[in-house]
Amino acid sequence: MNKLSSISSIIEPEKVNQIMNSIDSAHNILITTHVSPDGDAIGSSLALYHFIKNKGKNVRLIAPNSFPYFLRWMKGINEIEIFEYNPTAGQTIIKNSDLIFSLDYNISKRVGEMGPYIESSTAKKILIDHHPLPGNNFDIIVSKPEISSTSELIFRLFYQADKYDQITKAEAESIYCGMMTDTGGFTYNSADPEIYEIISLLLRKGVDKDMIYSQVFNNYSEERFRLLGFTLSQRMEVYPDHHSALLYLSKEDQNQFKFSKGDTEGFVNYPLSIKGIIFSTFIREDEGIIKLSFRSQKDFPCNQFASEFFNGGGHLNASGGEFKGTFDEAINIYNEGLKKYEKILKEAIKEE
Ligand code: 5GP
Ligand code: MN
Repeated sequence: MNKLSSISSIIEPEKVNQIMNSIDSAHNILITTHVSPDGDAIGSSLALYHFIKNKGKNVRLIAPNSFPYFLRWMKGINEIEIFEYNPTAGQTIIKNSDLIFSLDYNISKRVGEMGPYIESSTAKKILIDHHPLPGNNFDIIVSKPEISSTSELIFRLFYQADKYDQITKAEAESIYCGMMTDTGGFTYNSADPEIYEIISLLLRKGVDKDMIYSQVFNNYSEERFRLLGFTLSQRMEVYPDHHSALLYLSKEDQNQFKFSKGDTEGFVNYPLSIKGIIFSTFIREDEGIIKLSFRSQKDFPCNQFASEFFNGGGHLNASGGEFKGTFDEAINIYNEGLKKYEKILKEAIKEE
């Protein structure tokens, strides 16, 4: 199979060998991923989880907190331990592991309360991720910000290790789901032709791509749909001079629509469909914290905006952050930020 396709060896071959050898020689393997795990976090983690389990090895998978309901269809989803639900059990698993994978996050801050336990563990640590600026407390680092998703990297790891034939349908579905969600259904961050070669190889494993699309994007509640309508009509500010738009939802707004985790996933993308808007922000009041999501087009670095004003980060065109303060303060900081970035926004929209 390998000879037929032209998928390049993005991961350094010696690292592929080291990772495979580490899996073979470990006794208790742990896979971890970031807070508020998304399709890529869960997809990449489950794919690796199945792969290691199928080798007959002991493997556990811990997420810091729960995942959105539209990922519940994934095979193995019930085997994920949620650290927040039982921190003591989580700590024991971390302590007993001799190999820990960090998937889809770059620094331990992104795993919340779990971070210090992972940091102080003496296990061998392997990072596989596509966010810029990886931390340095790992033994092996596969950090590829140019790659669409961590799920794609997991595919590449298997493929480069000559394990394509062993990839199961469940693994292929998980990988496909992560690649699809991190590219908005292949609408951004997905210009690399090799992505479609990989998709072709995944479809050959029996992946039903339309089923996955439907499970993820056509599976919302009526309340979520009405909340979207409300947000777009009542809670959106457009700043044409700054080529920007803002969506914002208070706790009270969310309660009115029986908010459940994952309901606002994707809201931040909508304003980008307005002509001339290249920077979209969504500010949501959460329990004791304000959550922010940013999306941009062209070269506008929304991750820089996130890190400068909201203690966050992420990718050039998709980032996020958190703010400890009031909802109104967050909106004010956003407004100040827009003023400061006016010139950069104006320059970015001129680019072809
Ligand atoms: P989302 O808007 O979907 O929550 O997040 C988009 C991307 O922004 C994520 O894939 C992640 O890379 C990044 N991100 C989200 N929240 C945070 C945060 O609080 N801190 C950092 N550093 N990155 C974040
Ligand atoms: Mn990702």
